Amino acid sequence: TPNVEAKSAVIKLFEEKGLGTGTTNYKLRNCGVSRQRYWGAPIPFVHCDDCGLVPEKVENLPIALPEDVEITGEGNPLEKHPTWKHTTCPKCGKEATRETDTLDTFVQSSWYQFRYATDPKKWNEVGIDKEDVNYWLGVDQYIGGIEHAILHLLYARFFTKMLRDLGFIDALKEPFERLLTQGMVLKDGAKMSKSKGNTVDPDKLIEEYGADTARLFTLFAAPPQKELEWNDSAVEGAFRFLKKLYDRSSKVTQKSLPKIDQGSLSKEEKLARVKVYEALKKSTDVYESTFAYNTLIAACMEALNALDKQSNEQVWAEGMYILLHLLEPITPHICAELSEMLFDSANLKAKIDVLEEVFVQDTLTLAVAVNGKRRAEIEVDAGAAKEDIIAMAKEQVAKWLEDKNVVKEIVVPNKMVNLVVK
Ligand SMILES: [Zn+2]
Repeated sequence: TPNVEAKSAVIKLFEEKGLGTGTTNYKLRNCGVSRQRYWGAPIPFVHCDDCGLVPEKVENLPIALPEDVEITGEGNPLEKHPTWKHTTCPKCGKEATRETDTLDTFVQSSWYQFRYATDPKKWNEVGIDKEDVNYWLGVDQYIGGIEHAILHLLYARFFTKMLRDLGFIDALKEPFERLLTQGMVLKDGAKMSKSKGNTVDPDKLIEEYGADTARLFTLFAAPPQKELEWNDSAVEGAFRFLKKLYDRSSKVTQKSLPKIDQGSLSKEEKLARVKVYEALKKSTDVYESTFAYNTLIAACMEALNALDKQSNEQVWAEGMYILLHLLEPITPHICAELSEMLFDSANLKAKIDVLEEVFVQDTLTLAVAVNGKRRAEIEVDAGAAKEDIIAMAKEQVAKWLEDKNVVKEIVVPNKMVNLVVK
């Protein structure tokens, strides 16, 4: 990119003129990794009067925290524990004292993905298994709160590069490819939190409406990046949609995806297919990149409404086949049940192609303007000739053309006809 090229050009110029040289600035400063806290990984070092600071023997790792600890709110509980810190020196065997500081949580959160990617069967032999790490990482999509967006990612990058330089992992440029920071849940305008006591118990929602309604409602309320204002009445809407979806399963009379002759369909039937395939088209983007599940749910709701306005059995079968396929990750229980009942679950495993023919419109609505002012609309065949379109347009706006000369006829394809008169 130009700015990166410019940077090296500027450095080169400065070096040529003897004005300065290029250098790399590191903005991460030294930072303490230890804390005087119980809740952290113990630092596996022992203080010996004779040997000084001695690392614990590998076979004694990991050093576990004591469970009979007394949390008083004062001082370090590990320091005050009666026995935990007393041990022997790994080097000379004399009485010695454990390090009672623990590692701050950021130390572990900076590289846990490498450990998680390592097969647990290998955990006793290696900390990080290169082969497993190469297979699973980097992380394609990271999801977390905004409070972790800066420092945690900075530390994780540092650890990744450090572990790479030390040879524990192979070349991995960045630990995380993409980050999604989820929005907070608000109730009556305030952040929902246990300390404020304004939380909503999802168990009650699940008890009353079922898990699918709770899931649909939550995902429909807002895109995950945005704040979500909890609204009890919207739960009803989600519940009604699922009841309707369940009810419409009775419209399906065939077990597989039908081959539909688009030419034989009525306007309503065609529109229903357009809505169903619009939802299908949207789904790839939503599931793979934007996570705007609310827009996909809205598209599915529109599709079900459009299906309701026609009664073609094939269009219904196709519509339900696709809608259940699309909604399955969002409302898995109802979709699994209906899919099994209607299609032997074939629709859940299928890769369904978007049929572009569905979107080909056979008629178009064009605006007709006279001297730039919109006067009427005409509906024309998609393949209509320009002369026919103009003739039809003139007929529609005849009263504005009386006693005038048409000096210019402009057809903007698929949009409008403009007649300039004098
Ligand atoms: Zn010693």
